[in-house]
Amino acid sequence: MSSSSVVSRTSRITGTRLSVGHAEDLGLDPDDGLEWVTLCDAHDTLVYSENKTQALRVNGPDFCDDCRTSARRRKATIISRTSKETGLPVTVASVASLGVEPTGGKRWLVSCDEHDTYAYTRTKQRALTTSTVEFCQQCRDLASQSPQ
Ligand SMILES: [Zn+2]
Ligand SMILES: [Zn+2]
Repeated sequence: MSSSSVVSRTSRITGTRLSVGHAEDLGLDPDDGLEWVTLCDAHDTLVYSENKTQALRVNGPDFCDDCRTSARRRKATIISRTSKETGLPVTVASVASLGVEPTGGKRWLVSCDEHDTYAYTRTKQRALTTSTVEFCQQCRDLASQSPQ
């Protein structure tokens, strides 16, 4: 009995659906030892990763030209950075790029990609300086565990 490893998620950045799974479960051959695949369902493009964590982190615009183009068309501003406190990837994006209406004038979003948590801010500057520990409980736990 084999259980499929394939999971679906919706990229917050582009709104497109991504499938993540083991190459075998997606009917693909591993690529040079890379056995995990992120698939853009909308554009039929894919990228290989070393492990599931990495495959889950990949966003459409990271590997899919069509996703990149549609993000640009939506005047997307997407900035990737790494959290000082936890070393985990953080994504800052303008709400416009997500295709949703600003909430209470808050036009920017900071997201913790690892834990799938996010917060809205009013300005880009604020979004860029917001630490994930301010809104992500799991990041807070991580930061308090690791020695400075
Ligand atoms: Zn795509
Ligand atoms: Zn987090």
